[in-house]
Amino acid sequence: MERTQLLELATKYGSPLYVYDTDIIASQFNRLTTAFSGVKNLKLNYAVKALSNVNILQFFKNLGAGLDTVSIQEVQLSLTTGIDPKRIIYTPNGVSLQEIEEVAKLGVQINIDNLSILELFGQKHPEIPVCVRINPHIMAGGNSKISVGHIDSKFGISIHQVPHIKRVVENTKMNINGIHMHTGSDILDIDTFLRATDILFDVAKQFDNIDFIDFGSGFKVPYKPNDISTDIEQLGIQLKERFNEFCTEYGKDITLMFEPGKFLVSEAGYFLAKVNVVKQTTSTVFAHVDSGFNHLVRPMMYDAYHHITNISNPEGRDRYYSVVGYICETDTFASNRRIAEISEEDVLCFHNAGAYCFSMASNYNSRYLPAEVMVVDGKDYLIRKRQTIQDILHNQEMVKLPKKETKQTVSA
Ligand SMILES: *Cc1c(COP(=O)(O)O)cnc(C)c1O
Repeated sequence: MERTQLLELATKYGSPLYVYDTDIIASQFNRLTTAFSGVKNLKLNYAVKALSNVNILQFFKNLGAGLDTVSIQEVQLSLTTGIDPKRIIYTPNGVSLQEIEEVAKLGVQINIDNLSILELFGQKHPEIPVCVRINPHIMAGGNSKISVGHIDSKFGISIHQVPHIKRVVENTKMNINGIHMHTGSDILDIDTFLRATDILFDVAKQFDNIDFIDFGSGFKVPYKPNDISTDIEQLGIQLKERFNEFCTEYGKDITLMFEPGKFLVSEAGYFLAKVNVVKQTTSTVFAHVDSGFNHLVRPMMYDAYHHITNISNPEGRDRYYSVVGYICETDTFASNRRIAEISEEDVLCFHNAGAYCFSMASNYNSRYLPAEVMVVDGKDYLIRKRQTIQDILHNQEMVKLPKKETKQTVSA
């Protein structure tokens, strides 16, 4: 997006502010669709947890995407868009049988990732088809916190336990209609990914009524200028060939699914924060913005890099800054980063702020969540108001506490 338009939005809606450019979302969606265009049945389900504002979900529905959810609340949010429940897939981890049953009742595709719940569900509801999440035990992903497919991971049913799944199916007469994996975020190595898909094909062959194979996600996007990212086009060429071969072998045109979050929305997001204070110490120049890890936690939680530009002074000479927040705890967005000269009240723009940014924000320090704006065909829409003190107090019960005698008396 144009720097000047972002600045105007910061003036119009105040800071801190999240801005989402839907042109970028649409072009990323089209990139994926094009990369896999040789597959007869392709379904792309957007991972709601990356950015879950209902207007974003609506936008995806209009693009023709399905939605990938991990909680019953995300299912409920998705349904507010009027999407067909059949276009929603529910892939929770470690939730109760009761929650899974409630979601199944809504007509949503269930994906189960452990043997004990699979068996319980199959005994009670053999008529409801279920997808199983397989853990192929492939080390993938940018770092250990976001790699979820390795041997020690809590996710999925181990590839070594497929015989157990088959036994459950025999005993309960339930129907497995999909095979799923999700090995982690930030996959760069296509060969690693393809190895995991081969494992999944082997699993799928062992079941008679497969309608779809879901290859999860984990596509990496560029964060730094000149950063490498997953070569989606190359992956498309290689995977669709294998997939089509598999369909022929299986004797049925099954559906190929992906459920990307980051790939679809990361680059569409901009986080705008205003500089409150520029503090020069003996070693460092700190730029304190009117935000912190309460609004954007990825740098502190994952050591994630977010490119930062000074949109108020783009032509300024580069200087070194540590960009920090206003939270009463260390909340460093960037250390000794080269940024165009910063003055107090300048607006800094954090890039790649679409995925796992607003959706992970909190009210820590009793600060308000930022407002969110969505830009569609050049026009801006406020899609979430900034909070007020009423929101912070909402659901807090002011109870009448019994009076305590205290030794300490306060003299008037
Ligand atoms: C988080 C998640 C995704 C999305 O991952 P990205 O790295 O954002 O693409 C997809 N599927 C499942 C099951 C997930 O938990």
